[in-house]
Amino acid sequence: PAFPAASPLFSTATEPAAASATEPESFKFDAEVSRVMDIIINSLYSDRAVFLRELVSNAADACDKRRFLSLTSGSSAAPAIRLRGDKGARTLVIEDEGVGMSRAELVENLGRIAQSGTAKFAEAMSANKDDLSLIGQFGVGFYSGFLVADRMTVETRSAGSEAAAGEDWHRWASSSGDSYTVEGIPEPEPLDESSPFESGTRITLHLKDDCLSFAESFTLTDLLRKYSEFIDFPIDVWAEKT
Ligand code: ADP
Ligand code: MG
Repeated sequence: PAFPAASPLFSTATEPAAASATEPESFKFDAEVSRVMDIIINSLYSDRAVFLRELVSNAADACDKRRFLSLTSGSSAAPAIRLRGDKGARTLVIEDEGVGMSRAELVENLGRIAQSGTAKFAEAMSANKDDLSLIGQFGVGFYSGFLVADRMTVETRSAGSEAAAGEDWHRWASSSGDSYTVEGIPEPEPLDESSPFESGTRITLHLKDDCLSFAESFTLTDLLRKYSEFIDFPIDVWAEKT
């Protein structure tokens, strides 16, 4: 914002900012996370499409957790997963109505090495002298998005107890390297009128020049058939804008 911290002089004349919006705060990745991303982003690994398997399986895991929560709370959520490519915008959006993440979970899950897939991959890479086929064998989870994207954002809100207590929307963003940002954001617009997005996670991949085919619905549908046959939740793939 152009103004310094709210002063009474200004506050009567200006709309208050949305309560949830905050300045982006910068964080450093764990060194091993940076190393994994470095390998991914500079690799000529040929099967880049594995990113879709990884991100869709994360979405399905999140939907599973959400379903479990709603079973125990008696409500009947049927969480969906949505894919929308936009060639003009050079983006692919992967959205799920899963359990979502709080601000603290974003930092813990998407900034640290503790996460299973990434840790095992980093270990195996050290032991096997940079054998890139390990990407396919281990999966590098979330960070495999950087196989096809040079920037990723994650917009999310926890569906758990924190949400009930006023936990709000946050955006994680990174172009890989050694840092990422997290900020509070207003509730994102739904992708379309029939798809309200009340909690869950929306990942936006800003596709590399030579990866624009991943914005095409027939490519996505094909890959889902290959990689994500046994996902337990409905996956909607948008036809691309023309
Ligand atoms: P893994 O799936 O092996 O734990 P990932 O790198 O794929 O490792 O994901 C890291 C963590 O980030 C997950 O364990 C989960 O806690 C969180 N996460 C990733 N994607 C989502 C999502 N769509 N919704 C909620 N949490 C997610
Ligand atoms: Mg995963």
